[in-house]
Amino acid sequence: MNRSSIPRIYLSPPHMSGLERAHVADAFDSNWIAPVGPHVEAFESEFCDLTGARNAVALSSGTAALHLALQLAGVSAGDEVLVSTLTFSASINPVVYLGAAPTFIDSERQSWNMDPSLLADTLAERADQGHLPKAVVVVHLYGQSADLDAIIEVCGQYDVPVVEDAAEALGAIYGQRQPGTFGLAGIFSFNGNKIITTSGGGMLVTDDDWLASRARKLAAQARDPAPHYEHSEIGYNYRLSNVLAAIGRAQLGVLADRVAARRRNFAYYAAALGGVPGITFMPEAPWGRSSRWLTTLTIDPRTFGADREVVRLALEAENIESRPVWKPMHRQPVFSRYRCAGGDVAEQLFRNGLCLPSGSSLSENDLERVCHAVLGVHRAATHNTART
Ligand SMILES: *Cc1c(COP(=O)(O)O)cnc(C)c1O
Repeated sequence: MNRSSIPRIYLSPPHMSGLERAHVADAFDSNWIAPVGPHVEAFESEFCDLTGARNAVALSSGTAALHLALQLAGVSAGDEVLVSTLTFSASINPVVYLGAAPTFIDSERQSWNMDPSLLADTLAERADQGHLPKAVVVVHLYGQSADLDAIIEVCGQYDVPVVEDAAEALGAIYGQRQPGTFGLAGIFSFNGNKIITTSGGGMLVTDDDWLASRARKLAAQARDPAPHYEHSEIGYNYRLSNVLAAIGRAQLGVLADRVAARRRNFAYYAAALGGVPGITFMPEAPWGRSSRWLTTLTIDPRTFGADREVVRLALEAENIESRPVWKPMHRQPVFSRYRCAGGDVAEQLFRNGLCLPSGSSLSENDLERVCHAVLGVHRAATHNTART
């Protein structure tokens, strides 16, 4: 059979519940085809109910949410912001939009997220020099919370605000609560590849009423209250469309099912591949429950018999999309001039790490195809070794 005729398995495609069309039709019927409207308000209030946040501001993207959160945390030109190095570039870009300089912090091995002891060392060093960073951006990677208590505590000692990038972690739990609701502000993303999607969108959450109302104002071109258009500061056009909020409400309603499906994917992969020499799955840290947004593993080429790229290309040959783990930000050409505390853990995770197809709509047959391809590489590699 021609490979191109086998249906492609994507990494993390959108998964509609079926209720989205009715919500969108309602937005059309009411003619709220605008960046304000009843679905935006309802989406925000339902998001608060679900996450326990006091305020939620619906925005055009997670990146926009982080930009506003950092600006309102007081970050401006010439400041330093500490950020996880193992992440997507969108965690860093808003720092640079504001003219500030990111300093990267390596991961620990328990959750692959920001190492609290490296963060503590860096903060102590800066305090000695008399120049504290303006904020810390902690990322919750691949559906798993960072070690929040330790991070919040050490930042509290120096009075440095924490902004949580929870774009990948909606549906995760830290202790009893949704990560993203522990710092000064948290941000979420509804991009097409996330656990729920509005095709594009984001949310800023905060318990700080002043911050929420400032975010609302800045996101709407910073209009001052006046009948005419009056402006006393620079704003942005960052609001979420009422049509997209309608999609988001239907998606939010099935979030628990989506988490369950992604955790089932993980369990399937762990059962099928967990015993293979050289394969190690991203651990689930004891402080919470991962949504397993993406099932991610590392491949030790010495014991597995082939490296991560060989496996990725073998999957691609079977029309299966997989991705290397995020390339650390301190290794990105665009950020090479900035400092990094540590870096070896993130670099090793990047070298050996692979994200497997993890969509909540994967069938058992899809999962079997993925495992079959991975096992095939191992078998071929160890067979060759046995002969030589
Ligand atoms: C997706 C993502 C973002 C950006 O969200 P957008 O809605 O795409 O702007 C930020 N940080 C992380 C870690 C992400 O994965």
